[in-house]
Amino acid sequence: MTGPQRVLITGGASGIGRAMADAFREDGALVHVADVDGTADLPPGEGFTVADVSDPGEVDRLFDDVVTGFGGLDVLCANVGIAGPTGPVEELEASDWDRTMAVNVRSAFLCCRRSVPLLRKAGGGSILLTASTAGITGYPLRSAYAASKYAVVGLGKTLAMEVGELGIRVNVICPGSVDGERIDRVIAAESTATGVPEANLRAGYEKQVSMRTFVEGRDIGAMAVFLASPAARFVNGQTISVDGGLETLRNSWRT
Ligand code: NAD
Repeated sequence: MTGPQRVLITGGASGIGRAMADAFREDGALVHVADVDGTADLPPGEGFTVADVSDPGEVDRLFDDVVTGFGGLDVLCANVGIAGPTGPVEELEASDWDRTMAVNVRSAFLCCRRSVPLLRKAGGGSILLTASTAGITGYPLRSAYAASKYAVVGLGKTLAMEVGELGIRVNVICPGSVDGERIDRVIAAESTATGVPEANLRAGYEKQVSMRTFVEGRDIGAMAVFLASPAARFVNGQTISVDGGLETLRNSWRT
């Protein structure tokens, strides 16, 4: 590859995706962001497609934009994910289950499907899927989310085997609890479902981590930049946590 890396980040308008975009940009890459939220205030000149990446037609439109803007692609960060429903499995709605799978898993499949031919044409590249520690340990009251993240891990592992010989590396990043609005929403939903005060839940989440802390978006961004870099040229097919050492996701109110 010559010239700056051309990087597509889904869900890049806020949260972890935004932090990934910042990290790649600071590393000298060209960044294109896709997000369903078109109100984001992105840096001038940054490529941006407003799209629901769970929809095949919208993903096709996104990749048309990427090819027009970049002429190709070197790195896909399929990062979009929603929290899905919170509650015991017998109380979940099938529609909520299906939406969680569509946004968290189908979006990654659709973006990988369009990226592989571009990465092959570029002579190789990197695919980074954002899963979650919930996709390693399970996560009580979040069965749809945990199942979707196990699926993302399975997609990454399998795709690495399919495309490794093309020089395309595929790795899965599993963030732990990341400080920010998203974890605040997760804790609020869990508080509603359980009646446990939000402060107790938050303290419980921190206690689940060996380092007794949440991580930050920039920690995930730094891992993404490393995994896409030549320094990681033989890191492939891996599921890598950035979580301060998560010991369990068993909710503290149950332990
Ligand atoms: P977030 O909710 O802060 O941001 C997600 C972004 O994705 C938003 O900008 C949203 O508009 C966008 N988005 C949502 N649905 C979309 C769709 N269908 N099409 C296009 N864009 C869409 O979430 P986050 O915390 O940044 O999470 C990013 C990823 O990290 C997700 O896959 C999430 O499951 C995972 N993760 C987050 C945490 C955490 O604590 N925040 C922990 C583990 C894993």
